[in-house]
Amino acid sequence: MEDKEILKQWDKEYFWHPFTQMKVYREEDNVIVERGEGNYIIDIYGNKYFDGVSSLWCNVHGHNHPKLNQAICEQVNKISHFTTLGASNIPAIKLAKKLVDITPEGLNKVFYSEDGSEAMEIAIKIAYHYWHNKGMKEKNKFITLSEAYHGDTIGSVSVGGINIFHEKYRPLLFDIYKLPSPYLQAVKLAGREKALMEETTKKLIEEVEEFVFRHHQTVAGFVLEAGVQGAAGILPFPKGYLKEIERICREYNILMIVDEVATGFGRSGKMFACIKEDVKPDIMALGKGITGGYLPLAATLTTDEIFNEFLGEFGEAKHFYHGHTYTGNPVACNVALANIQLFEEEKTLEKLQPKIKLLEERLKEFLELNHVIDVRQYGFMAGVELVKDKEKKQPYPYGERTGFKVAKAMLKRGIWVRPLGDVMVIMPPLSTTEEELDYFLDSLKESIIEVCGN
Ligand code: PLP
Repeated sequence: MEDKEILKQWDKEYFWHPFTQMKVYREEDNVIVERGEGNYIIDIYGNKYFDGVSSLWCNVHGHNHPKLNQAICEQVNKISHFTTLGASNIPAIKLAKKLVDITPEGLNKVFYSEDGSEAMEIAIKIAYHYWHNKGMKEKNKFITLSEAYHGDTIGSVSVGGINIFHEKYRPLLFDIYKLPSPYLQAVKLAGREKALMEETTKKLIEEVEEFVFRHHQTVAGFVLEAGVQGAAGILPFPKGYLKEIERICREYNILMIVDEVATGFGRSGKMFACIKEDVKPDIMALGKGITGGYLPLAATLTTDEIFNEFLGEFGEAKHFYHGHTYTGNPVACNVALANIQLFEEEKTLEKLQPKIKLLEERLKEFLELNHVIDVRQYGFMAGVELVKDKEKKQPYPYGERTGFKVAKAMLKRGIWVRPLGDVMVIMPPLSTTEEELDYFLDSLKESIIEVCGN
């Protein structure tokens, strides 16, 4: 048997893949990646595919970038890991300073972890613990949004709101207050055309404020994604919504906990969505693009006000009892530093703006397709929603996997994508060229027509 065939066999026999129905996976032919080259991945047979989802929304400057590789190698040649429980390392220190410099004003402390879920888990624990240390134990609940996604650990699932992922675990989860998804509620109130307008935001905020007025004494924090609910199918917030939530948090003494795991590091069009929206949260979670998509690293940033509540004599036991074996790993921190430096050297954000415009322009074409009911964009991320019947607003049955079929049709055209159900996700690396983006969108259109008909 060929080595490649053995790999395929072992993959199906031993490897339990994330978010994957393994029965179906094992019946299919899957891409086994061997290497990467810029915005492309190359499989074990030498087939080259454009990375249409940035390796699940984390790749920034492309694969196998010499400067990012160099940052990893340089650190590996010094030391790959040593604990940060009671000790420190040079890249982790420098990165903490850098993150404080580039994130919104007021976020002055950095707590590291390994992935976005954990960054959110930490955010929740810190907020809860903060009020506890302040002697306000009654502030122990979180306001969350329907359709939210903050990760897969029990804490981050507790503040999540995607039924198909989260409802099964309900008995294991802590109680939360849940408000409607801003986009879906806006569509309900004002229709798709007017959903994102400021007028609609006003109506939504009235509902939020009325709820907060009644419950704020028991609320530790308001947890929300920054500007868009990504995993729910790229559902952008109506104009000014995030800013209004900031105002409400300030007025009612609630911590604003913003999840920038997906939007951070340029995806929103600015370095962070909070900067784009002029919002200064109390706690902010970062992950995904922090290392340019090279190594697992995440961070939770807080204000001094929060940090200071954890200070005390050792015997007071006020400190934050949290930390993992690989917290603040120096190799991951070193590549994160190089990633941030590349933003400056390659003028990533400047070059991104025309691509965001191009995406906006070209997305309009999709609305003309018979099976596309909605297109949504936030910065350099977009979703194209497919339905069986546009007039009747009738979705395809879940088991038909229409989005997946379109993804397979894209693969034939040399593009790897992963849809969210029947929402086709457009999330290529920020280093994508305009030509590549055009080809991606042409192929998506053709693939939708091929699978769904015209
Ligand atoms: N928060 C948001 C907004 C996300 O989109 C994700 C992942 O998609 C997470 C948290 C979880 O991050 P991770 O998969 O790195 O645990």
